[in-house]
Amino acid sequence: MADSLLTGKSALITGAAQGIGAAIARLFAAQGAQVVIADIDEDGGKATAAAITEDGGQARFVRADVTSASDLDTAVRTAVAAHGRLDIAVNNAGIEEQGGCALHELTEEAWDRLMSVNLKGVWLSMKAEIPQMLAQGGGTIVNMASVAGLTGLPLGIAGYSAAKGGVIALTRTAAIEYVRHNIRINAVCPGVVRTALLDQAIEAGMFTEPEAAALHPSGVLISPQEVAQTFLYLASEASRHVTGHALPVDAGMTAG
Ligand code: NAD
Repeated sequence: MADSLLTGKSALITGAAQGIGAAIARLFAAQGAQVVIADIDEDGGKATAAAITEDGGQARFVRADVTSASDLDTAVRTAVAAHGRLDIAVNNAGIEEQGGCALHELTEEAWDRLMSVNLKGVWLSMKAEIPQMLAQGGGTIVNMASVAGLTGLPLGIAGYSAAKGGVIALTRTAAIEYVRHNIRINAVCPGVVRTALLDQAIEAGMFTEPEAAALHPSGVLISPQEVAQTFLYLASEASRHVTGHALPVDAGMTAG
């Protein structure tokens, strides 16, 4: 395969049934990686794996909820059983169920769920992935954060923002803890990306599509495929000495 940055690499991607995660899975497989898609959406996950296989790539689906330590252990074991190791882990699964409501109106249940999937889910994922990477002598982890974890936004997403800020702090700390074990750990902070998550926010009345695009100085929404390219950079040897970063892909949103 020409231009293959991930030839022979074993990659696990959570939340890859659709959206940005699916775009990452497709790009990684096109770059030669053997991909395991871990998601709670069985139909979507299997369809994404099948689409990759049809395109000549290697992918399999495992049902895993990122709030379950045992599901994540199974996901890691699936990758290792199939490919002998786990070179790359992308901890992407996430939700935004706050629906634009103010911080004082957010329920405890909604807060707990945002923390459980978006923050604890990333920690549990790393907790499952890192022992395998330690045992094999290294690996690369890329966590999904958001610009909402870097800056305040007037969108009624306090719980989501707090969880994503936590992902960034967790990423930086973990990067330092494991750098001498040859494990690199970075995060990506997208701006507004055209996915189902964006459609939900528009339906919830958080903003219209033009208003969402206007959050970027460029005035243009970002595609999942464009975000996936940054994950490819951070997963590949092209970023060999890059660790502990929270890299915005936000069309200038946090540049000011
Ligand atoms: P999406 O809703 O299209 O996809 C999310 C995927 O995660 C789905 O396949 C879903 O089934 C899966 N998922 C949800 N809960 C899960 C769980 N408990 N265990 C396993 N899988 C689970 O959303 P997206 O826009 O592709 O978002 C992907 C990530 O990108 C999220 O972490 C999100 O916060 C982040 N993000 C999105 C945007 C955006 O504008 N869309 C911007 C910044 C960051």
